[in-house]
Amino acid sequence: MKQEFRVEDLVIEWRENQRRKRNVGFLFQPNGRLILDTPPRVERAMLQSMVKDNLRWIRYRLRKVKEEARAHPPLRIQNGSHIPYLGDRIAVQWLRSDAVSVHRNGKVLEVCAPASRQVRRLVLDWYLARASRLFCRQIDRWQTLPWLRNRFQTWRHQYMTSQWGSCSVDGHLSFNTHLVKVPEHLVEYVVLHELCHLKVHNHGPRFYSLMREYMPDWEERRRELNGYQPILFGD
Ligand SMILES: [Zn+2]
Repeated sequence: MKQEFRVEDLVIEWRENQRRKRNVGFLFQPNGRLILDTPPRVERAMLQSMVKDNLRWIRYRLRKVKEEARAHPPLRIQNGSHIPYLGDRIAVQWLRSDAVSVHRNGKVLEVCAPASRQVRRLVLDWYLARASRLFCRQIDRWQTLPWLRNRFQTWRHQYMTSQWGSCSVDGHLSFNTHLVKVPEHLVEYVVLHELCHLKVHNHGPRFYSLMREYMPDWEERRRELNGYQPILFGD
């Protein structure tokens, strides 16, 4: 459900999200709009006063996201474009060929296909496959967390525009496929964050002390990840 209100000159949209329990998510859009991702049945008055109380910070973040988006205009994947991959930028190069294949050679992604219009689809498929391997690797990396055994059910990844990851109360994790574009130490942070939710389901002090125990610099990583928000709206 999509609803709106105004605070001064800002138009703020809010979307109720059945999976959110308590906190409100702030999604700063490159077009200068703010979307609130809220738990179901929140009151408009509560959201309005929350926005008013944080207005300076909200304006600051909107300005930042806008500047960031201007520096990195939305990407159109095609022959010759540069795409983000694990924090690197790699060049997409189409090679005419009857057989279809995608192969990374250092900073070049060689896409073999009969026609150049197939390049975008093939690169997106390549991202999906690389993301699967990335999350496998990162979940494996945290296998020794002592609480996983009985609580961790399944995981999957999909393209999302509002969050990097999520964890259901019954132990199912979701990760954002866009994470394949950011440096791996930031993916490590997102994966640990969701795995910690299997033990502590909220963002209270116990949650953060758990994060600190396993990743002392998690706040730094979160800050760095915030800078990548514009990729959530790209190809
Ligand atoms: Zn969380």
